[in-house]
Amino acid sequence: MSVRFAYFSMEIALAPSMRTYSGGLGMLSGDTVRGFADLGLSAVGITLLHRKGYFCQYIDETGWQHGEPDSWNIEQYLTEQEKRIQVTIAGRTVHVRAWEYRVKGITGRVVPVYLLDTDLQENSDYDRTLTDHLYGGDLYYRLCQEIVLGIGGVRMLRALGYEEITRFHMNEGHSALLTMELLDEQGQKSERTSFSNEDIAAVRKLCVFTTHTPVPAGHDKFPLDMAIQTLGRQDIRDMCDVFCYKGELNMTYLALNLSDRINGVAKRHGQISQQMFPNYDIDSITNGVHVRTWAAKPFVALFDEYIPDWCEDNFSLRYVLRIPASKIRAAHEEAKRNLITWVNSQMNTSLRTDVFTLGFARRATPYKRADLLMHDLDRLNAIAGEVGEIQVIYGGKAHPHDHQGKEQIKRVIQSNKRFSDRIHLVYLPNYDWELGALITAGVDVWLNTPLPPNEASGTSGMKAAINGVPSLSILDGWWLEGCIENRTGWAIGDRYDQLSSPVSADPTAHDADSLYNKLENVVMPLYYNDPEGFLEVMINAIALNGSFFTAQRMVLQYISRVYFR
Ligand SMILES: *Cc1c(COP(=O)(O)O)cnc(C)c1O
Repeated sequence: MSVRFAYFSMEIALAPSMRTYSGGLGMLSGDTVRGFADLGLSAVGITLLHRKGYFCQYIDETGWQHGEPDSWNIEQYLTEQEKRIQVTIAGRTVHVRAWEYRVKGITGRVVPVYLLDTDLQENSDYDRTLTDHLYGGDLYYRLCQEIVLGIGGVRMLRALGYEEITRFHMNEGHSALLTMELLDEQGQKSERTSFSNEDIAAVRKLCVFTTHTPVPAGHDKFPLDMAIQTLGRQDIRDMCDVFCYKGELNMTYLALNLSDRINGVAKRHGQISQQMFPNYDIDSITNGVHVRTWAAKPFVALFDEYIPDWCEDNFSLRYVLRIPASKIRAAHEEAKRNLITWVNSQMNTSLRTDVFTLGFARRATPYKRADLLMHDLDRLNAIAGEVGEIQVIYGGKAHPHDHQGKEQIKRVIQSNKRFSDRIHLVYLPNYDWELGALITAGVDVWLNTPLPPNEASGTSGMKAAINGVPSLSILDGWWLEGCIENRTGWAIGDRYDQLSSPVSADPTAHDADSLYNKLENVVMPLYYNDPEGFLEVMINAIALNGSFFTAQRMVLQYISRVYFR
């Protein structure tokens, strides 16, 4: 088969009920593959099956998060493939099968995605669980998973007949072991048992790498002894200059060392990554979202009517400027009504459609600062008293081991007790694809408050923009590119030009102050006193940002700057 591009990712969100993703990275992978399919790119995806998903989130009365396995119906979506392959893990032979999901693009072209599965009778009880839990288990479990994904993934592609792949795209470092398998293939071709510099050069030509986080904990690394024992190869020690960093098997460095092209996921993130890894050439391709996936029904209908080719040519979303403004308002009102009705029915609340509504939903983890809005509750109460009522809709899961993330959720929920009756906050449990679509389209303003420079890109604000929901956000990640003050939304804090965090003794107090100032003096007065002015910002958010921060533009840039270089 002459498929040319293989896209490897630990998580890919393929359908709302397939629990094969946890959050932003998986959504991005899914949107990328949907972008491939729309463009008819000759590509194939590889990921793990994740039978038990990430986890299903419950929140108790105190605001504390609990989790349960999130199983899903595999046979309903996937077709089992006959071909089996094996990988060796700590001396054990582990059998792997693949399930196929077919991602269909707008022109009917299909990109197959293979989900690897070790739940086979031939395997030990432990090995049968290796493809159960996304980001679950301990370090050893993760390494085993990465062997299945990277090494097993390449072997499965070969077994399925994909011989002519010219680019292996590692979406984040989890799949970096695929380089070892490709090195082995090169060695076998030349009947060598150890790698030569030519082998390394040949593999490097085949591989490209996208790094996604400036947070050190986001980069996988394994103790050398564990790596040697688990992978069953001594040559890791001999080849440490390629495989390791500071005496550990480091997936990021492995990917960096064996990739021809490397990129970060927003312009600023590319610069930050370049600073983190000065010995490598790092480009940036800003993330985008799949517009057909994230446009809410009323907007789909409106775009279909006025911009018939908006799905084939996302750039043409700029022509929303020609749609009568009243129709944009009506579409937003419908999306907002859908959200509020749903929330009230689920949460026993009485939110209203005529109240200024903020949305904040994403992974709960310290740098995202979900509680920045609650930094000074007296101030927030005063703003609601003077300018107008506020509704806030929250959502987001903390990783089960992220105690501080869970504390953050609890703080957000507990702050409810200290609000005046002019602020209404609801925290929706189990944030996922469907909730994401509902919230990003249905609120009035999308809030994002990360501590710079930790937000590599962020994508939920792009989903909001497609639906005419402007962002009020810290200038970090994509918002450094997307924010045109008072036109597409509003900035919180300062535009910083140095690559490190803005210099301030207490950046959180500084940012909170800026957030309150913007709400009090700019955003809420516009919403309550100048609805026409607010509507103009909504329309520009679609025309300038919705049309540009798309998976289609992103994939076109990957094609021209990464795959065909
Ligand atoms: C889009 C999306 C994200 C990404 O959120 P950001 O903080 O903007 O990166 C996370 N989770 C889900 C379910 C999403 O749909």
